[in-house]
Amino acid sequence: MHRFLFSLSIALIASSPITAQKTNPEDVAFIKQLYNKALTESSAYPWLYDMCTKIGGRMSGSQQAADAVIYTKSMLDTIHLSNVYLQSCMVPHWVRNNSKDKEVNEHGRTGDDLTFMINSKTNISLDILSLGNSVGTGAKAIQAQVIEVDSFKQLEKLGSKVKGKIVFFNHPMDPTQINTFSAYGEAVSRRVYGASEAAKYGALAVVVRSMTNKLDDYPHTGVMIYKDSSLKIPAVAISTNGAEKLSELIKKYPESKLYYRTLCAMLPDVESYNVVGEIKGSEFPNEIITVGGHLDSWDPAQGAQDDGAGCMQSMGVLQLFAKMGYKPKHTIRCVLFMNEENGGAGGRKYAQEVLRKGEKQIVAIESDEGGFTPRGFSFEAEGAEGDARFASLEQKLLPYFEPYRLYFKKGGSGSDIGPLRDQKTLLIGFVPDSQRYFDYHHASTDTIEAVSKRELELGTAAMASLIYLLDKKGF
Ligand SMILES: [Zn+2]
Repeated sequence: MHRFLFSLSIALIASSPITAQKTNPEDVAFIKQLYNKALTESSAYPWLYDMCTKIGGRMSGSQQAADAVIYTKSMLDTIHLSNVYLQSCMVPHWVRNNSKDKEVNEHGRTGDDLTFMINSKTNISLDILSLGNSVGTGAKAIQAQVIEVDSFKQLEKLGSKVKGKIVFFNHPMDPTQINTFSAYGEAVSRRVYGASEAAKYGALAVVVRSMTNKLDDYPHTGVMIYKDSSLKIPAVAISTNGAEKLSELIKKYPESKLYYRTLCAMLPDVESYNVVGEIKGSEFPNEIITVGGHLDSWDPAQGAQDDGAGCMQSMGVLQLFAKMGYKPKHTIRCVLFMNEENGGAGGRKYAQEVLRKGEKQIVAIESDEGGFTPRGFSFEAEGAEGDARFASLEQKLLPYFEPYRLYFKKGGSGSDIGPLRDQKTLLIGFVPDSQRYFDYHHASTDTIEAVSKRELELGTAAMASLIYLLDKKGF
């Protein structure tokens, strides 16, 4: 921006009636400069572009995840930080295609296969992805009748009627929820625990409708968890169009069978890493403010929104401070957590290391809701103490965000920073607009094309601004 226009805009912001008494002009100007630099000089988008197009999906334990560790560390090495290092952790190694089981089946397919068999001549194949951590059927497929249910309650009512059958959870995400994460939260137990619930009644496998409001042909994978390790049955996600189709077919041909073959498998754990970079604090080097996202992603796509965006924004925050020559009072640290998607090993390891090293983790911010237009921040606030801290932060810091139209709310933060909860850390979630997140989430559509460079940069600037204020003013 032209120098004159820049000073004029600062003057306008500083003298507006809303912010006049509540903000310090020097901080207002610094924040504007963080935004200016993020929108003109940030490397967040080119980094994301490279990681998405040259490495791609980064399942825990995969070669791509290992490549992403090396890539992001080498990029952090270019931005002149005090310290860049790797933090080792063991992670699960689940694979979608276990090569030992590859074999052409009677439908001429070599991979996973879900086919509704109307009669010996008419088969309808449906789009699926195995759910992460699921066992596969192996080369030997399951062929069984399929029963559709909406909920665990309905499953319980059917009880032993599902024995020897495949259970199809066909519950759409509620489109009337304005925050799409609320609709996801309400629906997702079917994906996570559906196999365990159905196995209790003797079901052979489950099919789960994808967690998205959008009707399309892309299945969305995601984690599933076995509650009882002795009752493991396979689980797949079906696309939303596929779910509508399967539901129609079941009504029309209730006696027909579903052919179900999946080749996924869980292999032994492997060593992986969190990637860490930091600018040492000048006054309180042992007091840490962390910003992070998770480096692993699901495999069908590039993991651009989930959560390449959050990683690059977090690296971008440190890059902005380095470019501004900012000397923080507290240590500002960027952490790219490994294994958020199917285990959370990186988040747990990070919290253990903070304790082991005797550091004081004062604040942690996570960006794991995509790189969409920033809306604000969500602060974890427990009890009267939490409420009072939130009220004070809102009064002191929110006026700085009025020009950028951001809000503060009480709520959740992020799953990687969750293990820090016991250490009384102030936990904050970055909140971007949620309307399109589940169009891409865990599906093959989550590619670099799904990310807007400008929206991504605005998120970097928003997080850097909040960290600057927390570092300078305390909380
Ligand atoms: Zn994520």
